[in-house]
Amino acid sequence: SYIQDRGASAVICKLEEAGYEAYLVGGCVRDAVLNRRIKDIDIATSALPEQVIACFTRTVPTGLQHGTVTVVLPEGTYEVTTFRKESEYEGFRRPASVAYISDLIEDLKRRDFTMNAMAMDKNGKILDPFDGQKDLEAGVLRCVGSAEERFGEDALRMLRCVRFASTYKLQVEAGTWQALLKQAPLMRHIAMERVRSELDRMIEGPAPARAVRLLLASRLTAHLKKQLPLPFERWLAWDDALDALSALEGQHDRWSMLLMLLEVPSDVVRTALQELTFSRADGDAVAADLALRESVAAQMHDVGAPDAAGQTDPAHLERVWKLGAVRRGEAAARALLRQLRALPDASQQRGELARFLQSVAPELVRSGEAWLSEVPCFSLKQLAISGKDLAEELGLQPGPWMGTLLQQLLERTALGELANEKDILIQAARAAQ
Ligand code: ATP
Ligand code: MG
Repeated sequence: SYIQDRGASAVICKLEEAGYEAYLVGGCVRDAVLNRRIKDIDIATSALPEQVIACFTRTVPTGLQHGTVTVVLPEGTYEVTTFRKESEYEGFRRPASVAYISDLIEDLKRRDFTMNAMAMDKNGKILDPFDGQKDLEAGVLRCVGSAEERFGEDALRMLRCVRFASTYKLQVEAGTWQALLKQAPLMRHIAMERVRSELDRMIEGPAPARAVRLLLASRLTAHLKKQLPLPFERWLAWDDALDALSALEGQHDRWSMLLMLLEVPSDVVRTALQELTFSRADGDAVAADLALRESVAAQMHDVGAPDAAGQTDPAHLERVWKLGAVRRGEAAARALLRQLRALPDASQQRGELARFLQSVAPELVRSGEAWLSEVPCFSLKQLAISGKDLAEELGLQPGPWMGTLLQQLLERTALGELANEKDILIQAARAAQ
C-alpha cells in the first residue's frame, strides 16, 4: 500500500529529501486502517519547526508552542508537528511547554490510545509499537501505557475515551475503564469549552445513545468544573428514547430532546447550557423548545386532559398548542413536533413528561404539522396590519398598547378566528377597544 493523499506524500518526501524523518500519525492512520474517510492529516517529523518552514514555500505557524506548522499546498493543508514529548503535565491538563525529541516511538508514546498511536511511512507501511491494529481488530479501546497515569496527565482523555468508544463502537478495555472511573474527579480541571466540544461530537455522532450510556456509567458529568443542575440519571429511565436520538438530525434537535427527557424547567436548562458554553442564541433556541413543551403540558394538566376515560379534549388541545406555538415561535414548534415524532411510545415511563406524551403527543404530531403548513400567520411580521396602521385607524397615540393588541390579533389569526386581512383586523381591533 501507499499514501493515498498526494499532498501528504509530497510533504513527507520533501522532508525526507532534506534529511529528516516524517510520517503520517494519529487519527488519519487510524481511519486509514479502518478504511474510513480521512478528515485531517497530521504529519510528525524530526525536523524542528523552523526547519519545516524552510522546506516549503507556504507555511502558517499555527501552533508553534506545540511545534506545529501548517504546510499549505495546492492539494490541501497539512499539520506538521515536530516529534515531541510532553515534558511535565500541569494541573491535569496538557502542558504548555514541550520537549522536542528525535525519536518517533517516543512521540507515539505520549498519545492517548493505542489506535491513535500508529504511524505510516511514505510507502504505506504501518508502524504500530503499541499494537493499535490488534486492539482495533478486537474492537478494543486501550490507553497507551498506564491508563491511570494517562488520564491523570490530561483528564480530557477520559471524555475522548467515551467519545471514541461510542463513535467507533469499541469496548473500553477493562484496565482503561477502571482507571477512568478512578480518575473521573479530575474532570473538574478541564475548561468547559473543551468538555462541550467533546459532548457535541458524541451527541452529533453516529451513536449518541451509546455515548449517553457510557457517560452515565463513567459519572464524568458529575465531576465537571461547573456543576450542572441537571439530573442526568433520569436518562436511565428513557432507554428507548435514547435509541430514538439517531432518528433526529443535527445538534439542536438531539440536545433538545435529551434535555427534554430530563424533565427540568426550561430556565434551569438555559442556565446549564450557559455553563456548557452554548452561545446565547443556541441556548435560547433549545430552551424555547422546552418552554413550549412545558406550557402545553402545564395547560393540559390544569384544564384539560386526560379525562376519566383517558381522552383529551381535542379542541382544547388544539387551542393550547397553537397559542403556545405562536408565542414560542415557529422554530420551536417544528422542533418539538420532530422530537415528539421521534420519541417511542411513552407507556412504560413515569413522570410529568410521560403523562404529557400519553395525553397529547400522538394527536399533536398528527395535526400539528398540517396546521403549521397552513397557518395564515405565525409572527407579527406576517400580520396584515402594523402598529402604525392601528394607531392611525384608531386615532390613538402610538404606545405599548399596540404590542398587546397586535399580539391578541396575531393569536386570534393563528387560531383561525380572524382572517389575516387588514379590514377584518381593524374591525376586530375597534371591537376590542
Ligand atoms: P478526530 O480528529 O476524529 O477527533 P484524532 O485522533 O485525529 O481524531 P485529534 O484531536 O485530531 O484526534 O488529535 C490527533 C492525534 O493527536 C490523536 O490521534 C492522538 O494521537 C493525539 N492526541 C490528541 N489529543 C490528545 C490528548 N488529549 N492526549 C494524547 N494524545 C492526544
Ligand atoms: Mg484529527
